[in-house]
Amino acid sequence: MMVGVHPLAGFDKLLHYKVPESVSDPIVVGSLVRVPIMNSFHLGIVGEIGAPKNFPLDKLKPIAQVLYPFPALPPDLLELARWMSSYYAAGLDSIIETMLPAAVRNGIGLKQDKYLSVVKRPSPEEYAALEKRAPQQVKLLRFLEQQFRPQKKSLVLARLGLTAAVSSALVKRGLVHEELRRVERIAYDDDVESGELVASQPHVLNAEQAAAVATVTAELAREKFGVSLLHGITGSGKTEVYLRAIDTALKSGGGVVFLVPEVALTPQTVARLRSRLEAIAPGHRCVVWHSHLSEGERLDGWLALATGEARVVVGARSAIFAPVRNLRLIVVDEEHEPAYKQDETPRYHGRDVAVMRAKLSQAICLLGSATPSLESFANAQAGKYQLIELRQRVDSRKLPHIDIVDLRIEALKQRTMPSLSRKLLDAMHARLERREQTILFINRRGYSSAMLCTKCGHTEECAHCSIAMTYHRADEMLRCHLCGDQKPAPLRCPKCGAPEIRWKGLGTQRVEETVRRMLPKARIERMDTDTMSKKNRFREVLSQFRAGKIDILIGTQMIGKGLDFPNVTLVGLIDADISMHIPDFRANERTFQLLVQVAGRAGRGDRAGEVVVQTFTPQAEAIQFSRHADYGGFAAAELKIRKDFNYPPYRHLIHHLFRGPNPEKLKFFAEQWAKLIEKELGDRVELRGPSASPIEKIKDEYRWQLWYFTNSVTKVVPEIARLRADFAWPDDITQVIDVDPVNLM
Ligand code: ADP
Ligand code: ZN
Repeated sequence: MMVGVHPLAGFDKLLHYKVPESVSDPIVVGSLVRVPIMNSFHLGIVGEIGAPKNFPLDKLKPIAQVLYPFPALPPDLLELARWMSSYYAAGLDSIIETMLPAAVRNGIGLKQDKYLSVVKRPSPEEYAALEKRAPQQVKLLRFLEQQFRPQKKSLVLARLGLTAAVSSALVKRGLVHEELRRVERIAYDDDVESGELVASQPHVLNAEQAAAVATVTAELAREKFGVSLLHGITGSGKTEVYLRAIDTALKSGGGVVFLVPEVALTPQTVARLRSRLEAIAPGHRCVVWHSHLSEGERLDGWLALATGEARVVVGARSAIFAPVRNLRLIVVDEEHEPAYKQDETPRYHGRDVAVMRAKLSQAICLLGSATPSLESFANAQAGKYQLIELRQRVDSRKLPHIDIVDLRIEALKQRTMPSLSRKLLDAMHARLERREQTILFINRRGYSSAMLCTKCGHTEECAHCSIAMTYHRADEMLRCHLCGDQKPAPLRCPKCGAPEIRWKGLGTQRVEETVRRMLPKARIERMDTDTMSKKNRFREVLSQFRAGKIDILIGTQMIGKGLDFPNVTLVGLIDADISMHIPDFRANERTFQLLVQVAGRAGRGDRAGEVVVQTFTPQAEAIQFSRHADYGGFAAAELKIRKDFNYPPYRHLIHHLFRGPNPEKLKFFAEQWAKLIEKELGDRVELRGPSASPIEKIKDEYRWQLWYFTNSVTKVVPEIARLRADFAWPDDITQVIDVDPVNLM
């Protein structure tokens, strides 16, 4: 037998090998094998069975080892890897490495031990005879007969006070089977926020939820590929719908992948899911996939899924590559989250990969959000996705009332740049007196590059691209980083003439100080990315907050995901504007999402909630639509702008970054390259640039960039990849291609 192997050795090629007789494990497409290349051994995935076309067969080397007795990449994952490689212009080897956890590739912690089980029960006469000659063997045999699963040899022998000779004798008689088995480490149990008590009782569905469940169940019953978009307002009980869908998929014998944006940030959701999932599928483990797992734990989880011992995995982005068998359902919660996009090679989008995997596996993909991405929403409108809506909060709880505070007026009143408006302070005060809780969100996105007039709320936009221009401090210029257009940064606001255009945002600390000064009696905690790196601290603060030991929680919007605290009746957003002025055509969408999600944290208990949003631009559409959580209105308005500028979702956007130590050389090659693309692919792509990147230099390396707009990634990216491979790049220039980037900064 001969096989073609994709080696994991830093290049993308299919190399052929022969399978020697000594290899007894079955080899199929997707098997993980060890193969010789030059003078060393590398891992590889079997990509095809068969002989090479133009290679002398007697020169083929033998493969050295098969790592697992089943395909490490089942057919649907291998197919997915090939699609990703071509869609994202990344080497197949790098995709395969992403799909297989390091622990799996290295076999780390693959702890095996000897296990015993009974294969044949002797007749009563045989038993009696054996009893006389070898009572110890009977003792062991009787013990093993009472067990449901194979028993660890060392433990059993120690417990019964027997030697290995006893078990060997039984093995010789053909009564007992001894085998090497993997030792299980059940480590997922208390890893995710153990301190929280979570209810595992199912809710009685309300009418909307029941209708949603019926729709998804019908989809699942078709056993064909389909995507459903569950658009449910915050607190509408989407999780319950997911759980029922998962229940159906499991009962029909299928497997499930459940993706959340960030496991570490959503411990509550994960804990809730796990307890329910394990109740739904008794005897089945729910594998939790997250970045804090040890290598051994990760391998165990992976093996449990690959062997079918576990059929459900919950995890962040990379859990989409879990080797779940007979995949029937993929749930992508908070599908609009930019966290689903990986910002290093391969730069894939977890949601888009989920849809593709569902397609390859003929499974159902269920995308859920209170604020769906416009990409998904447009697909639903076009009839490609099925739209399911939950318009009400459970138990008919009201959406919180949203107050918009105009910071321009506040600045005039307070005669200084305010971090907390009177309104927000009063509301916080009232909460303290009523022993209710407050969350304050601080928006951190890209504020150093924004230029915003605090008098009139004006920002400078590019005339050609409808995105905010970026302020470059070094040469005092404003630049558009889509088309490269530039002009001197104004000293005064071009609209109202005020000199306050250079305001730079409010820091987290300044807000915290103000709150402490104004409300000295309040118990306050601050959580942001810095403090969050300590996992336990994060949990601790959340438990304290839940227990009512903290009155006011201050944090960046990142921490707000999925938090469900019934005693929070006030949510304040300190600076709604920042995300609106990031130089990104998705700025409005991000702002709307932020406002709705943040507001959704208020009023989840019996008492109504209130939300105070501080802004310099109260008239902005993203803010006005969010007041009534009017997603439909917002989407219609925003999609029109996208259509006018022919931005995603109407076309795809691809970013090409060039890096190198010499700026002139970099510019020259970027321009030569752009000319080539224009000539070869001008009918399929529209180019913007090349121009200097918004951050022109990082660690002594200069950066240039080029944007491609296109209707079809699959007609363009493979061509770009081909041309790139043939282009005479100098050694000191490196480049990165990012397809469908979610972050234009
Ligand atoms: P979403 O994800 O849509 O914001 P959740 O799924 O977090 O909403 O549900 C919000 C709250 O409502 C949760 O505490 C959940 O347990 C509860 N809940 C969900 N469905 C029901 C129901 N049918 N009846 C009562 N409570 C429910
Ligand atoms: Zn521009």
